[in-house]
Amino acid sequence: MSIPFVVELSWTVLDYHRVQRCSRCHPDGWCPRVAVARARILAWRRAVCRAPIREW
Ligand SMILES: [Zn+2]
Repeated sequence: MSIPFVVELSWTVLDYHRVQRCSRCHPDGWCPRVAVARARILAWRRAVCRAPIREW
């Protein structure tokens, strides 16, 4: 199974936010980059109809 590049990038964003924050992170912990990354991954999962590969 091939993973689209944007999905790979999204995983990178989520992994990054496990340990630190970026310049776009809000004080309450919400981040637009994470929101976009999750939306991309969810859309991709729906498209391929498979079980989750990784948890977050
Ligand atoms: Zn962030």
